[in-house]
This record gives sequence, structure tokens and C-alpha cells, in this order.
Amino acid sequence: MSRKPFIAGNWKMNKTIAEGVALANELKPLVAGIDDVDIAVCPTFVALASVGEAIKGSNITLGGQNTFWKESGAWTSQISPQMLLDAGCKWVIVGHSETRGRFGTVDAELGKVLTYFGECDATVNMKAKFAFECGLTPIIACGELLSEREAGKTDEVITAQMKTDLAGFAKEQAMSMVIAYEPVWAIGTGQVCESDEADRVCGVIRAIVGEMYGADVAEAVRVQYGGSVNDKNAAELLGKPNIDGALVGGASLKADAFATIIKSAR
Ligand code: PEP
Repeated sequence: MSRKPFIAGNWKMNKTIAEGVALANELKPLVAGIDDVDIAVCPTFVALASVGEAIKGSNITLGGQNTFWKESGAWTSQISPQMLLDAGCKWVIVGHSETRGRFGTVDAELGKVLTYFGECDATVNMKAKFAFECGLTPIIACGELLSEREAGKTDEVITAQMKTDLAGFAKEQAMSMVIAYEPVWAIGTGQVCESDEADRVCGVIRAIVGEMYGADVAEAVRVQYGGSVNDKNAAELLGKPNIDGALVGGASLKADAFATIIKSAR
């Protein structure tokens, strides 16, 4: 089975509404007519509706950067899948390394906030399950820290994350989920994971999916690589058999670079 490549741009906390709309309008003609790659942009929550309007009728789809496992209620600051759908989203990223961790953990000596948003594997799983239930497709991110890689624990960490993050989906849901392998040390650092190693870990992820949901799901599921992907290194990464696309941060903020990455996936 050949899997359709999927390139998603995670704009993180970048671009005003006007800048996001301008970026979407710049990207549209550069990727017009590409129907053999799924394309998504994930703007900030406040820009979703406007960017959604801008890409209406194009081959670019919309994703949220996070969600919650309740539809509504007294959950200050949270955004439900229903709200993302209302804004036009098809996808939602859950478990990005920038949203994982224990709330407000501060290294007292360094005065540095280490982790931010209280997301752990159990909540990633709750978010993904509820997203599916509501009609969104989750892009479930996982990845090891540099210290874990250096300790030779990459596969162990990824396996533990995946076993909890992916638990309890219906088979059709598992078939359509997207997993993003994002080594934390490669995100935003310019230090891309070597392509054979990225491919190997994406293969490990596919094997775990196979154990959990069967060989047909493992064959169908799309595994993206993320971490310092740019217009120069994308073709090599995307040429690997277990890498079905990319979750792109920094390079998705420039229309021409992002379009080049999308074209490298064809
Ligand atoms: C990301 O935000 O998921 C990411 C991979 O960022 P960057 O491409 O900037 O490393």
C-alpha cells in the first residue's frame, strides 16, 4: 500500500491574524494543483478562522495546535475539538514536546521554566480519543530528549509514549491517525536527525502500531518526521520508506520554503 504523504506546518506562537492570512495567501498559488500530498497549516487559535477563510476552496487544510478532552465548560484557556471544527479544522496536534510536561516546573537555580502545560501521555491519549470522537484527526507527537538518546533509551521512551498515547482507539481511527516522530533535541535547533536514524525510529513506531492494531493498520498509518526540517534536507528525509511526511515548524513560516518541502514529498 502506498501512503499519501502529509506535510503539516506548525506555526506555533507566530504570526498575527493579518500575517497568517498573508502567509496562507502566498502559499496557495505555490502549491495549487498538488493533490498527491496532504497539506495542512496549524496557525494560532486566534488566527484559525481567518486563515480557514483564506484557504477555503484550496488544497490546504487547517489544524489546531492543541485541544482538550471536554466539549465546553469551566476550563479556562482551553479549546475544544468542537471549537476547532467550528473554525474549519480537520486536524489537531496533540502531545507536541512544547506542550508536554508538568505545569510550571521551574529550575530554581537557573530560574528557567522547564515545562509548561501539564501534558503527559495519559492526557495526550484523552485528547486524541476525544478529538477522534468529535470528528478531528489527531497528529500525535512523540520524541525523546537528548539525555534519553544519549543514554541509549530512544526506543524505550518512544515505545512507552506510544503504548499510552495510542491506547484504546477504534481500528478505523487508528488507521487514519497521524504520528509525528519529533526528537526533542532536533526541534528548532537546526540539528536535524540523520535520515536513516529518523527512518529507523519511524519504523519502530510503525511496528508498535502493528502490535497494537495489526499489520493492516501499521501499513496504513502515516508517520511524519519533525525537527529542523527545511527546504534543503526535506527531500532526503521524505525519500525514506518509513517517513510519510513532515511536521514543520520554523520552515513553515516562509511560503516558498514550505512549498519546496511539500513538493519534495511528491
Ligand atoms: C515542530 O514545531 O514541530 C518542529 C518540528 O519545529 P522545527 O521544524 O522548527 O524544528
